[in-house]
Amino acid sequence: MSTTKTAKKRYTHAEWIAEAERRFGKDAMNWAFICPICKHITKVRDWKQAKAPEGGVAFNCVGRYLHECRVAFGGEGPGPCNYTGGGLFPMNPIEVEIEGKIRPTFDFAPETYITNNPSEMSAAALEAGATEEEVTLG
Ligand SMILES: [Zn+2]
Repeated sequence: MSTTKTAKKRYTHAEWIAEAERRFGKDAMNWAFICPICKHITKVRDWKQAKAPEGGVAFNCVGRYLHECRVAFGGEGPGPCNYTGGGLFPMNPIEVEIEGKIRPTFDFAPETYITNNPSEMSAAALEAGATEEEVTLG
C-alpha cells in the first residue's frame, strides 16, 4: 500500500468482505458505509429499503434513492445527499477489485457505529416508506 496522502485504499473482493465482516459481522445488511461528501452513514439495509440496485450500494449516496435529499456539491445541512460515485467528481475512497475490475466504493463506517446503533433504521429509509419485509439480498 502506498503511503502518499491521496492514495486510495485497495482491497480484493475477499479482503473487503473480510474487513466488513470483522467490523460489522456476517450479516451484510448491517455493513455500514460513509458517504464521502455528506458523511451520512448508511447501512446496506438502508440502501435496500430505499430500493437501490446492487450497483448503488456503497457507491451512490442513499439520498439518490429518496424522494428528497440535499445536493451533494454546494448543498448544506446533514445528508443524505444525491452524490454518485459515477459522476463528474468521483470521490469514493476505497477501491475493491472484483473480477479484475475496480469498483470505487465508500469507506467503512467506524467500527463503533454498529455497537452504538444496533437496531437503528435510518430516518432516510423510514422516509422512503420502506418496511423490513421489502428487504431482500437480491
Ligand atoms: Zn451523501
